[in-house]
Amino acid sequence: MLNHAKLNGLYADEAEPEAIGRKLYDLIVELYPICRSISGAGQRETLKILSRHIDLTIHDVPSGTQVFDWTVPKEWNIRDAYIKDASGRKIVDFGESNLHIVSYSVPVDRRMSLVSLRPHLFTLPEHPDWIPYRTSYYREDWGFCLSHRKFLEMKEGEYEVRIDSSLENGALSYGEYVLPGERSEEILISTHICHPSLANDNLSGIAVATLLAKQLSGLPRRYSYRFLFTPGGIGSITWLCRNERHVGKIRAGLVLACLGDAGDFTYKRSRRGDTLIDRAVPQAFRDARTNCELLPFSPYGYDERQFCSPGFNLPVGCLMRTPHGCFPEYHTSADNLSFVRPPALAESFWRCREIVELLDSNRTLVNLNPKCEPQLGKRGLYGSIGGASDGRSRELALLWVLNLSDGENSLMDIAERSGLPFAFVANAAQELEHHALLWEKA
Ligand code: ZN
Repeated sequence: MLNHAKLNGLYADEAEPEAIGRKLYDLIVELYPICRSISGAGQRETLKILSRHIDLTIHDVPSGTQVFDWTVPKEWNIRDAYIKDASGRKIVDFGESNLHIVSYSVPVDRRMSLVSLRPHLFTLPEHPDWIPYRTSYYREDWGFCLSHRKFLEMKEGEYEVRIDSSLENGALSYGEYVLPGERSEEILISTHICHPSLANDNLSGIAVATLLAKQLSGLPRRYSYRFLFTPGGIGSITWLCRNERHVGKIRAGLVLACLGDAGDFTYKRSRRGDTLIDRAVPQAFRDARTNCELLPFSPYGYDERQFCSPGFNLPVGCLMRTPHGCFPEYHTSADNLSFVRPPALAESFWRCREIVELLDSNRTLVNLNPKCEPQLGKRGLYGSIGGASDGRSRELALLWVLNLSDGENSLMDIAERSGLPFAFVANAAQELEHHALLWEKA
């Protein structure tokens, strides 16, 4: 079992809880320049970098593979793209920002007037210095994204347009990392890996999931853990299609995204709304005295859309700070390395770690002395826990655990009903077990 003493905020073995923020940020810096999409070399390069931290299994699923109602698309790769003006000057250059090209743009090599080029140009007039992020995965098309300011400087005339890309049969790649525990039942952590140089939407989730997996690999675990690094949408659809018989083992899951901005946390509930993860997340945030807005499920967003589709209806929610689409920098060049900060990443990491610890420590026990209260004083349980300012809460925790441990209430039930931090309840249960007053229900 993971050490739930950590839930008290006592990170005794992590000398500096903030140091993780720097590690998360460094990984984001390393991944940031890579041009990722839902397939292609950038995605494999990303998975290769993650493999240096965790022993990732990389799956390649051939283009054309049928996955439920979808087909794994052709693989897209890009080497260069630009628009040159009449004087031969590059006015839009993929080499400067991979956001300049609409993801999945087909190859182009032609001269065209501004009028005919214009339908292929995307800008953000409300943020004239930012480059938008656009994709055209499932319709063969092409386009460039540029700052509105640059667009306004473009004069009538002829432009040379070149996109050196390929859209060919290849593979869709995703990464999977499984950490076996005492039980075969699983906790699923999933994040999308399909965005190019965007820091919060994409890289923050990748970094937190990777380093969380790395840390959990060194700890004893009751549950097994499965980490998925998949291109958004098609990746989780592909995984679900290939693992349909396996999903019954998932007891709780979290989709991680947008975890590096300075905003408050947001948790979007699973479709069922009352599963283990839907209770563990609010409890962990209550215990950490950290704000977290709770949103009901909606069939829009990240891969929880697929995990919570009615044919699966898995207990999977989504944890974010500011949700996608709710910060102006979302899907623009302003979601960059200045937008995500190490302290915010560190806080996100610890909240995820606490949620996992809470899930892993949750058990259902039976009071072996249910007829009236057992005499705690003679066992040294009352006096020994006094002194500290939390003494009374800890005594209360003993009484709550003894009273509600009838084989029906889990430690999470007891924490919710008593209003006590989960760690107090879990620690009390451990002490009572030690004194043979409790027994774990098989
Ligand atoms: Zn996105």
